[in-house]
Amino acid sequence: MPLRSGTAASLARPRWLSLLSMIALLGVGIVVARLEAAETTPKRRILTTFAPIHSWALNVAGEDATVELLLPGDVGPHDFQLRPQDLRKIRQADLLIANGLGMEGWLEKAIQGNAKESARKIVRTSDGLKGELIYHLPTLSLDPATARKGGHDHGHDHDHEAAGEAPNPHVWLDPIYAQHAVTNIINALSQADPAHAGGYKERGLAYIGRLQQLDRDIKTRLTGITNRTIVTYHDAFPYFCRRYAIDLAGVVEEVPSVEPSPKYLAGLSAVVRARGVRVIFTEPQFNPRLVRQISRDLKIRFAELDVLETGQPGPLFYEEGMRRNLQALDTSLR
Ligand SMILES: [Zn+2]
Repeated sequence: MPLRSGTAASLARPRWLSLLSMIALLGVGIVVARLEAAETTPKRRILTTFAPIHSWALNVAGEDATVELLLPGDVGPHDFQLRPQDLRKIRQADLLIANGLGMEGWLEKAIQGNAKESARKIVRTSDGLKGELIYHLPTLSLDPATARKGGHDHGHDHDHEAAGEAPNPHVWLDPIYAQHAVTNIINALSQADPAHAGGYKERGLAYIGRLQQLDRDIKTRLTGITNRTIVTYHDAFPYFCRRYAIDLAGVVEEVPSVEPSPKYLAGLSAVVRARGVRVIFTEPQFNPRLVRQISRDLKIRFAELDVLETGQPGPLFYEEGMRRNLQALDTSLR
């Protein structure tokens, strides 16, 4: 009996085999057809200006588009100068994603020549944030109320743009504005590449969920800290500080990229003393010598906050950088 059923099975095998091979062939056919389709519609080429934007775009694009970073990882957008190979990359890209708000002045200059074509493919992640922008840093003042008046809340009836004032561009350091930026990226990619709109939306929303978690974690970890007065190196943290009720008493660099004058530093020292500043932050992009000296002289803590303008790029770049900053704030303010 075992032998007979074995024979029956072996007789039946060729039929099953041919069915299987047909299915297999059909499968190969589908794969080949897909590959051909992919070849005829190449992936969209997304070029991003600096690291946080690159990180967001990677999370939205997934496998559906290629995402490249224009700036070398060790050069920040304040200091960058376009090279001939960058102009070529800009020309070849389907979409160019930038922060805007004057952060990429070199880009605005480069596209002036061939405005129409370039302007169409540039996406600014800060678009739509107009009413949220900060135009002046808090003025150095011994009195916190006066300092705040010099900051953002000095009346919205005044038209900054008409007055030729430039907003502070560092909106990416606020995770809520980062979510706004990612929404702009989802919309831009979906419009440029409707065939993959579903994927862009799905991945983008999942990433926004992670940024919402980041925001909740920052709020939770900073809860219960009573002295929240800090000084940072350059003027990069007003949005972050406003979001999380951190009192930014001043910055070390009075004018960006210029060593502060002794007079300015004397004023800063007076503010640090009068307002009980707990910690002064340097940034990995700068030589910490000056900040270390101030912290020693005034006997306050010294720590590092990353403005995320440079660094090792990748999909986790933004979240990891923000969490390192949270850790630095948490340990230095407690
Ligand atoms: Zn900056």
